[in-house]
Amino acid sequence: MISVAWWKAMRPSAMLWALTTKELAKAFVEERMDFFVRAQPWLTAGMRREDFGNYGYKFADCNLRFVGARVSGELSSRAVSLAILDEASKYEHVDKREAAPADLVKVRQKTLAFPKIIHSSTPSTEKHPFWQNWLLTEQKRYFVPCPHCGHMFTLVFSADMLCWSGDKADEILATAHIRCPECKGAMYDVDKPAMMAAGEWRGTANCSNGKMVGYHLNALYSNFETFGKCAVAYWEACVKRGGAHLLQNFKNSYEALPWTPYFARVDENKILSLRKDSHGRGQVPEQAHYLAACYDVGLEQQHWVVVAFVGSGEMWLVDWGTLVAVEQIAEHAKSLSYDGMRPVVGLVDSGYSTRSVYAECAKFGEVLQPSKGSGARQGTHYETYLAEYDSYLVTYSDYQSKLDLYGRRALGRGEGLVLPRDIDNELIAGLSGQVLENKGQSAQWKKVDEDHYGDALKLALITWWVNAEGDLESMRDMSYGKFS
Ligand SMILES: [Zn+2]
Repeated sequence: MISVAWWKAMRPSAMLWALTTKELAKAFVEERMDFFVRAQPWLTAGMRREDFGNYGYKFADCNLRFVGARVSGELSSRAVSLAILDEASKYEHVDKREAAPADLVKVRQKTLAFPKIIHSSTPSTEKHPFWQNWLLTEQKRYFVPCPHCGHMFTLVFSADMLCWSGDKADEILATAHIRCPECKGAMYDVDKPAMMAAGEWRGTANCSNGKMVGYHLNALYSNFETFGKCAVAYWEACVKRGGAHLLQNFKNSYEALPWTPYFARVDENKILSLRKDSHGRGQVPEQAHYLAACYDVGLEQQHWVVVAFVGSGEMWLVDWGTLVAVEQIAEHAKSLSYDGMRPVVGLVDSGYSTRSVYAECAKFGEVLQPSKGSGARQGTHYETYLAEYDSYLVTYSDYQSKLDLYGRRALGRGEGLVLPRDIDNELIAGLSGQVLENKGQSAQWKKVDEDHYGDALKLALITWWVNAEGDLESMRDMSYGKFS
């Protein structure tokens, strides 16, 4: 509303305010906008009774029009210099013959000198253009000072920051407070106004495109929410695990984060359900593109798996086991053969004893490559040349690989994961227990002990990322030794 007033004063020209539906637009004008406009004599100067409409205002020198984003044509009919797209993440792209709602407005602004679009919304999903646009900005977040030590920090929903005593809603409501990440001092609702007044916006990402400015606030900052109400919502959605709909509402409405449908828990039953009766240990499925041999390197044991890829990327676990030393890996990989098929690619985790892994891979450079996981959340993988070893190091996003392996495949979504009927307990334990949990700003994979087989399987999956677009037919020929 302040943007509208500013625009009217500084750049009197056509303004548009879109809400999801025409009904919402009308209600917003009646219940909110009218009070604001009528309280500002300089805004209403020169206006006649008929200039106050159900869907907007004819100011003396410009006008403001309210529309429903779902009504086809409303967004594209006239050029506007200021467009406010309210609850933009709830706009549906109904008529696919047209551009997306937000783009329709942008097209109409092309000819104007100082156009501006304000997208404001509770985020819905990660894929929605609203959230994608926010990711392209500098991602300004509001930093507030700790009243005890002066440390500047952002308010987040995390177990370390939002604290309470008791395990009943009324106890939580009464005792909730936040704790400084630096000095651990407690802050209550009474401290909030002073902290907010002394706070400042700071960019938190480098990927600004320079044209868009993005701001993020969650419910902890709100004047209308207490820490107690936020804590109860957090507790109901995350601690009590009230169900997916509660968690989604909490992520969207309280954390102001998009909902990822991947919140996942891979338990033992899930792993057991991936067994196929017709598939036994040591067997290669028909029409396998290639075999991958992958190694997770540890202090006392090297866990290995052999995986076959079928169709559009289905993973079939063929065999698994352990070795004592890193120095055994190359010999071992050379010795593997199943139904006349040999592994033609292989990744070895080089996060631990890096130099020995590089050296070991170089011994069987035709097949083995070193690899390491990164903390990147976007993108999948890239390769870097290691001149000393004449080898390519594969760096992959650990988060994305787990999302693909556990969040998708192990839960039976998309191209799957097939396990032999005769898997053993060690393998079951090594694959289960993965949990994608809600932590502060975003979803994170919980650290699991003894998931070495899972890590080896993850590397096998990376070989598919690397090779899926390649010449699978030649890989198959090579697997059968036709080129050697
Ligand atoms: Zn502090």
